[in-house]
Amino acid sequence: MLQGMNAVPPSQYQPAEALRDPFGRAITYLRVSVTDRCDLRCSYCMAEEMTFLPKREVLSLEELERLCAAFVRQGTRKIRITGGEPLVRRDVMRLFERLGSRIGEGLDELTLTTNGTQLAKYASALAAAGVRRVNVSLDTLRPALFTEITRRGRIEQVLEGIEAASGAGLAVKINAVALRGINEEEIDDLLAWCGERGHDLCLIETMPMGETGGDRNEHYLPLSIVRARLRRRWTLSETGYRTGGPARYCDVAETGTRIGFITPMTHNFCESCNRVRLTCTGTLYMCLGQEDSADFRAVLRAGADDAALEAAIRAAIARKPKGHDFVIDRRTNAPSVSRHMSVTGG
Ligand code: SAM
Ligand code: SF4
Repeated sequence: MLQGMNAVPPSQYQPAEALRDPFGRAITYLRVSVTDRCDLRCSYCMAEEMTFLPKREVLSLEELERLCAAFVRQGTRKIRITGGEPLVRRDVMRLFERLGSRIGEGLDELTLTTNGTQLAKYASALAAAGVRRVNVSLDTLRPALFTEITRRGRIEQVLEGIEAASGAGLAVKINAVALRGINEEEIDDLLAWCGERGHDLCLIETMPMGETGGDRNEHYLPLSIVRARLRRRWTLSETGYRTGGPARYCDVAETGTRIGFITPMTHNFCESCNRVRLTCTGTLYMCLGQEDSADFRAVLRAGADDAALEAAIRAAIARKPKGHDFVIDRRTNAPSVSRHMSVTGG
């Protein structure tokens, strides 16, 4: 039996006051990577040969839920489940169900970032658990290029998954990493494709995280360039629309959908950062672009009670740094952060 989500009658529920970091930012968003494993090997994210964690190092679903519950009691309003590929973790729907039962009782939103390969199987169950929006990563619409970028994926599986998600009533946002010389000529097509289906599109700059066996400089494409090119064909107008994440959005007049830009490299988005990231081993990173972390697995497995867990959360947030400083070392090509994006889930 999963524990930690104490049932409080909704009528009596008062959401907790958000914790504030040393810079006054309210920390209301927790991203949880539930596994480091993945069925794909996107070239900008992972190396071809990855060594994944032994099971004993990974938090159980019960431990993950207990930690999430403690965060909600400390003012977290939004939880995003990510990975690795979250939907390849065995029994992960149990976690969605348990966290979903907390929506309206402190938690405003439970959401998911996925590569979409398992979505056809899980879309209805996700909707039933209370998920309303999903982010699906799709960098290209070309089947052969998809297989090349992911080193093994079949695009049909992802397209089926996206359709199933829409069919289940989930709002789908497509995430695409902009890659020089790979999908840069296709971004117009991706936007048109998303527009026809009513999906927002969010473009991401490649971030230098973890060794991938490739050269990131070669494929790094500043989104300022992409945006200028898009303006030749599309009418983009800035909007204040926010989803609680770092993307800045424009309305696309021709499609009635939105395009978002996540620009950690050209534009620091730290000043409005509201989030922290928990890995599947219980390590909490207070900043995506910094190495400092707090070990919640040790706290949990030392038998901490709820009060001790909450104190550990407060202590970690009190250490949240002001921001990141991603750079690609042009001489060595070394990543500025040694862990892979699949560890923290993006
Ligand atoms: N497997 C899921 C997926 O692909 O959506 C969730 C985890 S994945 C790490 C989350 C997001 O991070 C994806 O949209 C992916 O494209 C993006 N990503 C991975 N490595 C990245 C990198 N080095 N720079 C920028 N984005 C990256
Ligand atoms: Fe897997 Fe997502 Fe990383 Fe691709 S981006 S390898 S799908 S974790």
